[in-house]
Amino acid sequence: MSTSDTRSPTCVIAGAGPAGLMAGLLLARSGVDVTVLEKHQDFLRDFRGDTIHPSTLEVLAEVGLLERFLARPHQQLQYAEGQVGSHRVRMADFTHLPTRCKFIGMMPQWEFLNLLAEEAAQYANFHLLMQAEAIGLLTDGQQTVGVTVRTSSGNIPLRAHLTIGADGRHSQLRAAAGLQLKDLGAPIDVLWFKLACDAAQHPAALGRIQDGQVLVMLYRGDYWQCALVILKGMADRIKAEGLEAFRARVARLADRDSAQEIRTLDEVKLLTVTVARLERWYRPGLLFIGDAAHAMSPIGGVGINLAIQDAVATANALARPLLRTSVMIGDLRRVQQRRAFPTRATQALQLIIQNNVLDPLLRSQATPFVPAIVRLMQRVPWLQRLPARVIGLGFRPEHVRTPALPTAGVPPQS
Ligand SMILES: Cc1cc2nc3c(=O)[nH]c(=O)nc-3n(C[C@H](O)[C@H](O)[C@H](O)COP(=O)(O)OP(=O)(O)OC[C@H]3O[C@@H](n4cnc5c(N)ncnc54)[C@H](O)[C@@H]3O)c2cc1C
Repeated sequence: MSTSDTRSPTCVIAGAGPAGLMAGLLLARSGVDVTVLEKHQDFLRDFRGDTIHPSTLEVLAEVGLLERFLARPHQQLQYAEGQVGSHRVRMADFTHLPTRCKFIGMMPQWEFLNLLAEEAAQYANFHLLMQAEAIGLLTDGQQTVGVTVRTSSGNIPLRAHLTIGADGRHSQLRAAAGLQLKDLGAPIDVLWFKLACDAAQHPAALGRIQDGQVLVMLYRGDYWQCALVILKGMADRIKAEGLEAFRARVARLADRDSAQEIRTLDEVKLLTVTVARLERWYRPGLLFIGDAAHAMSPIGGVGINLAIQDAVATANALARPLLRTSVMIGDLRRVQQRRAFPTRATQALQLIIQNNVLDPLLRSQATPFVPAIVRLMQRVPWLQRLPARVIGLGFRPEHVRTPALPTAGVPPQS
């Protein structure tokens, strides 16, 4: 970190994930002096979700980034399908959404984050500091006035008019602020791994349900990104059965001869599912967004989308007060009021599915009948548009209302 990096920005954002980078980009684009801190040295990391939903693609279009997104390697999923025993069913059809992109874009998260960072870097008032970890809050009475940053050259105080915690579901700043999470419970965990894929296979998201087991397969061109949904706490027992047993379990579920491409159980990663949210997302001078404000279940793959939507709502509400350096507690409250309903509604749906569908299914060890509503959806395909709308657009999709001021810096190249 150079001395020029340590001068006080108007807004400091902890965490360069989808929420932090999008908020940083939109604020910088509006002329706000913003510094984003990222504790890692790059965006490369384990798989953590590659789904870019139609409403996020709409946001990219609104900031002029859609073409560059589409020019990068990605896959397009137009349908979500399921296989219940031997019955193939279509659960969601994204091709009729009232959006420019009628599909879920699949792009490695590091590629997506690089795109946002490259775009933001074109604004002179945007600063991204890598290997810079926000480890504590600077306070002046009740007011947060910045963060302490751990860097390779020591701990540095970084003062700012507003601090945004976008540091993910294990948020250090949330802990430092003493804000309480409401844990809504989750009876499931997920094991992530890859299976080889024949490029000629039909690009879709595919859920396979058989013998009380659920495997979700996301088409990624030359491989399937797979999620084995398990009862919470079962990961160690499943792994203890050994590699061969795991391969056999997966091969049976995926309806293939073998799963030899899983070379070791180290390639099988556990996601401990948590569904939780903050009761209050803000304090004077401090706001939490994205996973730091609400950890989502992987059901529907909506975590990235909600993080982006929070970022858009944050920029819409706060860009102008930030330009005047006059963010009041009411401005922060407005962000929570705007995003609380989509968060609660999405989590409520996820809880219904995980508690009333997945939990009993995983305990039953039986292959269920195809539910009547799903059978009806096959006879009346129009109904497949409803889940597509909920997954693809979510509740209360946000639109970019922040101006792109000519004074913001160097205009992005097309
Ligand atoms: C295995 C797995 C699979 C997932 N699958 C999907 C999926 O298919 N679809 C989907 O939509 N979502 C998925 N998710 C969830 C999704 O990744 C998150 O919801 C989304 O990334 C949240 O974005 P965020 O910006 O709020 O937080 P994060 O993406 O967690 O970003 C937080 C950033 O802050 C950095 N950071 C943390 N602490 C500090 C600190 N103190 N100082 C500075 N930087 C810090 C982190 O390194 C990280 O870069 C998955 C998650 C996991 C773990």
